[in-house]
Amino acid sequence: CGIVGILGQHEVAPQLVEALKRLEYRGYDSAGIATVDDTGTLERRRATGKLINLSDRLVHEPLTGRAGIGHTRWATHGAATEGNAHPHRYGAVSVVHNGIIENYRELRAELAELGLSPQTDTDTETVALLTGHYLSQGTSPAEAVRATLPRLKGAFALAFLFDGEGDLMIGARRGSPLAVGHGTDEMYLGSDAIALAPFTDRISYLEEGDHVILNRDGAAFFDAEGRPANREVARIDVGA
Ligand code: GLU
Repeated sequence: CGIVGILGQHEVAPQLVEALKRLEYRGYDSAGIATVDDTGTLERRRATGKLINLSDRLVHEPLTGRAGIGHTRWATHGAATEGNAHPHRYGAVSVVHNGIIENYRELRAELAELGLSPQTDTDTETVALLTGHYLSQGTSPAEAVRATLPRLKGAFALAFLFDGEGDLMIGARRGSPLAVGHGTDEMYLGSDAIALAPFTDRISYLEEGDHVILNRDGAAFFDAEGRPANREVARIDVGA
């Protein structure tokens, strides 16, 4: 229900939780984050219920790293369990999702034929499986996401993070809003600018069908046809 992502200069786990708190108003039943640490290792922590449960989990099982994505989930497919909480993961791919992947049953059947079986009851996991499958064929992360997006039916905002890639985050939007925050050698993704207000007031919005490739030094936007696109950066006053 709420997405955040940070490519930062500091430990991102506390910042991700802070940003997710600012999306609490949307409602949620569980939450989770994934980070890539300075050795390139991707790990995640998830918890049902309020964000405090995730914060408590992080006290006992901390996550380090300066790159991360986070999610508050409002379950549509699959019960509100820890196993169904985002981020979802397959191979080197981790993904958070707002919305619904309407053709997830068809995709599951297709993935089953490739020997890929889901570990959760969610529609979202099929996105991780598909992207992970393309990656395992030797494509780059950006190519894997570009191969995945046209396969998805439904409404979504997505944020991807990759094992072994500490300076890369990819976002995509179809039907659900997604904002990019521009910092100083830091970049952000968020369902809305309010989530990013503690970090930056310089915001661009993805247009319908866009995806964006983020590194700490900037954002490259692409339109629904995959062509490079310019998306204006505006200063937004949402009150940190
Ligand atoms: N359909 C997804 C799920 O049920 C995402 C729900 C959301 O937007 O939080 O896990």
